[in-house]
Amino acid sequence: MEPKQWIDVVEDKFKYDLDHFIIPSHYENDVQSILIPHGLIMDRIAKLAQMIASEYDDERVVVCCVLKGGHQFFSDLTRYMKKALNKQGKSLPMTLDFIRVKSYENDASTGNVQISMTDKELRELKGKNLLLVEDIIDTGNTMKRLLEKLSQYEVKSVKVASLLLKKTPKSCGYVPDYVGFAVPDLFVVGYCLDYNDIFRDLDHICGISDVGKAKYAM
Ligand code: 5GP
Repeated sequence: MEPKQWIDVVEDKFKYDLDHFIIPSHYENDVQSILIPHGLIMDRIAKLAQMIASEYDDERVVVCCVLKGGHQFFSDLTRYMKKALNKQGKSLPMTLDFIRVKSYENDASTGNVQISMTDKELRELKGKNLLLVEDIIDTGNTMKRLLEKLSQYEVKSVKVASLLLKKTPKSCGYVPDYVGFAVPDLFVVGYCLDYNDIFRDLDHICGISDVGKAKYAM
């Protein structure tokens, strides 16, 4: 049997009651469901880290966090990668880098992808192995644009690890190299994924409620 590339989160199957886990009281009415509890996120990241660590050789890799949403995943993934490399008896030097990409307002794509790296910073990636760490691929347009941009700079190799992949008919068909979970087509928050910069401090990945959307709309 082919191993599954990711964990498929089916809303009805993975139905955790809000009372089953701790939700900070300031978000109690702002989320409608817990899709992925924090413990499960961490266990899955440990496995992704092991897979990634075993697929790179000893040549330095630039692990690049796509801010802001990818920050928590990046931080936990690199920590687990160091553990996995140690366990595998491997030496893989990592450079940690950051790029800011913005395309959403409220829960909708603006269609305008803004990338923060300057031309000089992008030119410094020439000849390097790059691992981009992203929070979620929805339509895939943001990552497609970023990869198109990077392809102009002779990067030696580019791989993408995304914690989430949304199952949406709006997908452009892009699938990252490493995926933690495939999630239903709804707007998710928590574990650093935001709605107008809110909910980054929520540990679990949750579906936002209509109350939450209205309360924090721009
Ligand atoms: P795409 O271009 O793939 O449609 O969207 C990618 C970016 O949009 C992500 O990096 C993320 O910032 C934002 N995004 C898309 N879907 C969601 C979602 O369900 N929740 C949150 N918090 N952000 C999302």
